[in-house]
Amino acid sequence: MNYRHGYHAGGFTDVLKHTGLCELLRLLTAKDKKLFVLDTHAGAGGYDLQADAARRTGEAEAGVARLAAAPRAGMPGPVARYLAAVAAYDRKFGPPGAVPRRYPGSPRLVRAALRPGDRFVACELHPEEAMALKREFAGDRAVEVRQADGYQALKALLPPPERRGLVLVDPPFEATDERERVLRALRQGIRRFATGCYAIWYPIKDEAAGFAEDLAPWAPLVLELHLADIAPGRLAGCGLAVVNPPWRFEEAMREALPWIAARLGPGVTARVAAPPASAPAPASRA
Ligand code: SAM
Repeated sequence: MNYRHGYHAGGFTDVLKHTGLCELLRLLTAKDKKLFVLDTHAGAGGYDLQADAARRTGEAEAGVARLAAAPRAGMPGPVARYLAAVAAYDRKFGPPGAVPRRYPGSPRLVRAALRPGDRFVACELHPEEAMALKREFAGDRAVEVRQADGYQALKALLPPPERRGLVLVDPPFEATDERERVLRALRQGIRRFATGCYAIWYPIKDEAAGFAEDLAPWAPLVLELHLADIAPGRLAGCGLAVVNPPWRFEEAMREALPWIAARLGPGVTARVAAPPASAPAPASRA
């Protein structure tokens, strides 16, 4: 396990995933019913964008910083709300600047959206990242941090007693069998908890096309960003597949994604693919 999210925090992959995550959380917490959230691959929780790791890759500069520098007029609601969540986290560390210096990972974004009575479990397997995550939420009883395999947790914790849940699956895709592991976990999760909302992040690489097609049996809403400059071995883009998205999520992301793509740079494109209207419910699939 070599992957450290600190090198990639705030990059275009986080912009897609976290804009989607914030919007999912907003819509799912709009109903006056308790929500369970599971973050299977949680990372360290928060990141210093001025640290060596982030500066070395410059991913945040080419990602969240470009959005933060854009005029607010005409900015789609999901992007404005995502940037507000980033700014709220950044402000904990000092007066706000034009671009964020600290960046919230998925657990911080989830935590900011939780209401009293909601439940949140964040799993991280890497010992140092798990330690950092525990420090990030020390004394916060609303967050249960587990140094554990997120796939096992998915199996163990579903269905949640709340009967309403969001599961974020965001693996590093380092292992050669990660795709199979995600598909197996999703199959098991949906068998146990068919009405849950599942958001799965995936990389798009030249040699590894077709992950969205692998997920087709569950008819997800597919959100993708495609880069213009593709170097061999580098990411050509990334996607977020959402099974059982809440009402209005697709509409919100259809507005947000092209706007994001245009701000990220020339030639960056967005793709939104809805499941066919005739798709069966997830419970009866796969
Ligand atoms: N979700 C985080 C966010 O959006 O801020 C980023 C997570 S990062 C892409 C993936 C994380 O998964 C890494 O920190 C890695 O150590 C961790 N990891 C790898 N395999 C895991 C497993 N089987 N269970 C839990 N965590 C795992």
